[in-house]
Amino acid sequence: MSFRENPFKLGVASGEPSPTGFLLWTRLAPDPLNGGGMPPVNIEVDWQVAVDEQMTKVVARGTEVAIPDLAHAVHAEVFGLQPDRWYFYRFRAGNEISPVGRTRTAPANEHLLDGLRFAFASCQHYETGYYTAFEHMAREDLDVIVHLGDYIYEGAGREGDGRVRKHTGQEIETLEDYRNRHALYRTDKDLQAAHQACPWIVTWDDHEVDNNYAARISQDADVDVDSFLTRRAHAYQAYYEHMPLRLGAKPRGADMQLYRRVPFGRLLEFQVLDTRQYRSDQPCGDKTGPECEAVFDPQTTILGDEQEQWLYKTLRESPATWNAIAQQVMVARVDRTPGEAREFSMDKWSSYRAALDRFTGFLDEAKPSNPVVLTGDIHTNWACDLMLDFDDSNSKVVGTEYIGTSITSSGDGAPREDHAAELQSENPCVRFFNGERGYVSCEVTPDRWLSKYQVVEYVSRPGAPLVTRAQFVTENGQPGVQEA
Ligand code: FE
Ligand code: CA
Repeated sequence: MSFRENPFKLGVASGEPSPTGFLLWTRLAPDPLNGGGMPPVNIEVDWQVAVDEQMTKVVARGTEVAIPDLAHAVHAEVFGLQPDRWYFYRFRAGNEISPVGRTRTAPANEHLLDGLRFAFASCQHYETGYYTAFEHMAREDLDVIVHLGDYIYEGAGREGDGRVRKHTGQEIETLEDYRNRHALYRTDKDLQAAHQACPWIVTWDDHEVDNNYAARISQDADVDVDSFLTRRAHAYQAYYEHMPLRLGAKPRGADMQLYRRVPFGRLLEFQVLDTRQYRSDQPCGDKTGPECEAVFDPQTTILGDEQEQWLYKTLRESPATWNAIAQQVMVARVDRTPGEAREFSMDKWSSYRAALDRFTGFLDEAKPSNPVVLTGDIHTNWACDLMLDFDDSNSKVVGTEYIGTSITSSGDGAPREDHAAELQSENPCVRFFNGERGYVSCEVTPDRWLSKYQVVEYVSRPGAPLVTRAQFVTENGQPGVQEA
């Protein structure tokens, strides 16, 4: 195969580190925004893993077949490496060689690391800003990057809406649409640099399919279940094709199992959740408003029964000091409106009250080691105590939640200190609120978890410097947020 144009325009990525390997990703796409531009034939792609960036000391190699049915995406599972080591990798197709990526293995299961550094991010609407936050993230010396969803957004590009970049095409529905949208996002150099810098652990939220969808139900009342599931199958397939996920994640029709554990020895284990695919429909409509009766329905679920039982079992059996529960929507129950009136977002855990109470009740009774929930979705920064009763300021704290803002979604942000004071005066669980763009960097040691809120003051043009707006810690054995 000879290429007239570079087939590696979407860059390279890695993910899912284990003690002996990881997953390597690329996709052959010389014409990324128009279906990829590949002929409809199978193509062999070689990969190499080396201990040096110059790729002279190669320690593993293999060949995968990139097939048209998976948009010529490559998912190479690598085994047999040393635990807790950095490696470099690249691909070759025909005479074309990809950029070199950097990745690492996890420590051995019984090993207690001195420290782990990772960042978590979410919500990167392409049209509302530049990925300056990823440019900075790629330069931090991180072991891993965790993405909590809204990796793409599904809407049409519209002229005259004042947004700084444009989606190509209409609202995405077909497999080809979803592929082109992922490709558009992935042509961004800052996003590519962050993927190239270290392994990623990803999960999705709603916009990878459709705003505020719940399991088989579209946000639009006029869409029947069958047509929505067809769309969901397209979205899930394109997501799998573009993410550094293991082969076992490959969807079957409209189903794809994304929830999983990713352990880093005895220091930390990620439990990665999917709060979209199995949840009951939002009670009282997809809005922020007063709680209607449906909020208290004991049957409601946000994880689905199977995933919920899996989570509890996994947390009970986890050998890790820190259990980082990486998921989408806020767990802490926050009244969003000032004064007497009480209003809650119907898309979050708080409006699936039975599911929230089961979760906080589980944390209280089973006492898994240091549960720290990591959350995206809301386009603002928060740090919250997870309480048994969010209405009672003296209630027991049973866990910690760090909520990261968006990379770009909602456009340029602002600190919004007045709103922070208002939220904190009504909600004892809220320890910090901030409305800027950015991500959260975490430094975790056996004794202490440090969360740094990294912000950029603008995204409407490139080049914003990185500012650490706030830092909080959680001490081993003491759930909740403390001043650093
Ligand atoms: Fe979002
Ligand atoms: Ca209120």
